Amino acid sequence: MDISVVIPLYNEEESLPELQAWIEKVMKEHGFSYEIIFVNDGSTDRSWSVIEELGKKHNNIKGIKFRRNYGKSPALFCGFEKAQGDVVITMDADLQDSPDEIPELYRMITEDGYDLVSGWKQKRYDPLSKTIPTKLFNATARKVSGIKNLHDFNCGLKAYRREVIKNIEVYGEMHRYIPYLAKNAGFSKIGEKVVHHQARKYGKTKFGINRFVNGYLDLISLWFLSKFGVKPMHIFGFLGSIMFFLGFIALIAVGAMKLYNMHAGNSYSLVTDNPYFFLALTTMILGTQLFLAGFLGELIARNSMERNKYQIEKEL
Ligand code: UDP
Ligand code: MG
Repeated sequence: MDISVVIPLYNEEESLPELQAWIEKVMKEHGFSYEIIFVNDGSTDRSWSVIEELGKKHNNIKGIKFRRNYGKSPALFCGFEKAQGDVVITMDADLQDSPDEIPELYRMITEDGYDLVSGWKQKRYDPLSKTIPTKLFNATARKVSGIKNLHDFNCGLKAYRREVIKNIEVYGEMHRYIPYLAKNAGFSKIGEKVVHHQARKYGKTKFGINRFVNGYLDLISLWFLSKFGVKPMHIFGFLGSIMFFLGFIALIAVGAMKLYNMHAGNSYSLVTDNPYFFLALTTMILGTQLFLAGFLGELIARNSMERNKYQIEKEL
């Protein structure tokens, strides 16, 4: 099979028939063999019945129905597990992404050899309150992930070589960072294609303003995991050592001043009057804590199932 189209959706009943017809039209024109996998993420409207009806009419339509709303990432994860096509394409269900992009995305993966091609909504039809934070968000993501050529990390329209999606694990709200996940798994040929974007036709957006807060926190977690996930001591031990060293210097300063004062006959000078005393106290406690966090992290990493999981591309 050439293409699997994975579509996560939450309350998008109006869009589904239109989207399906459009995809079918494009696929037929280009003679692709394909499947569409609708992942119904606990919709409370008629979305699932619509999918069932579509499934009755077309035998290349598959569906997964979550019992409740888990989020876009879990939906993608389950869709990816089911996908069988050589190229896997994800798109939003709200008709903001255009199926007309599929042939070119497919060509970039199969002919230009990209592992992953992300859409870039260069001209967006979204409110300003969304586009401006998004610019900032993408700039940070570029910096942190080191994927310098991507303008739009969170574009719903993306294409992957099958190998990529079978070897990454999208979880939580990490769908925003799939290129980063792919890069961490060793898939480095990541490209971009300018795509047409449309205003939402039916329904409304499913993500509020907290997407940006959570988005940043997730980015920090991913960065941390990719850098120190299996060797937490390297960061905590390092910071702990610095702290402890600073504390130790302060401690020597406190001792030296006390001795000096005693020698000068100034027996009323208390160490607790000396600012260095407090510096020594806090930094040495903090240093010990950081070290402990490192050891605990190591213990956890040692017990994790993932600790010896490596991406093996080929064997002979
Ligand atoms: N979505 C989902 N589960 C959720 C929220 C959203 O499957 O909990 C789907 C939604 O139905 C749509 C896609 O994810 O197909 C993108 O959502 P939306 O269009 O609301 O995001 P935006 O375009 O505003 O970034
Ligand atoms: Mg949308």
